[in-house]
Amino acid sequence: MTVLTHTRITPPLAHLDDLFPFQRDVFNTCMDYADNARDADAFNAAMAIAAKAINVDLPTSGCIVKCACPNCYSCDAIFDSASPGLREVEPSGPYNLPRYQCAACTDSHPAPHED
Ligand SMILES: [Zn+2]
Ligand SMILES: [Zn+2]
Repeated sequence: MTVLTHTRITPPLAHLDDLFPFQRDVFNTCMDYADNARDADAFNAAMAIAAKAINVDLPTSGCIVKCACPNCYSCDAIFDSASPGLREVEPSGPYNLPRYQCAACTDSHPAPHED
C-alpha cells in the first residue's frame, strides 16, 4: 500500500485582501522600505511596522513576505519567510526581500522545471 505524504502546509499569517485598505497601504509601503533598506536596522524597523500594521507578531525569522507566485498574481497570502514548504521564485534579485511562493501555491503549481 502506498502512503501519500502530503506537505504539511503552514497557514499564512494573514491575507492581504482581508485587511483594511489603510493596513494594506502601510504593509505595502513597509515591504518597499524593507526591500530597499540599506542596513539591517532599517529592514527590521520596516518589518516590525509591517507586522504591526497587519496585526500579527513578527516571527522569529524577522521577515514576513507576501506570496510572489508567478502563476497567480492574485494570491494574497502573507507568511513567515522561514515557514516550511516555500519555494523561492527569484533567487538572486537586487532586493533584500526573498521572493517566495506560499506553501499552498508551491503545492498547487509546481515548478515546470528547475534550472
Ligand atoms: Zn500563494
Ligand atoms: Zn500561486
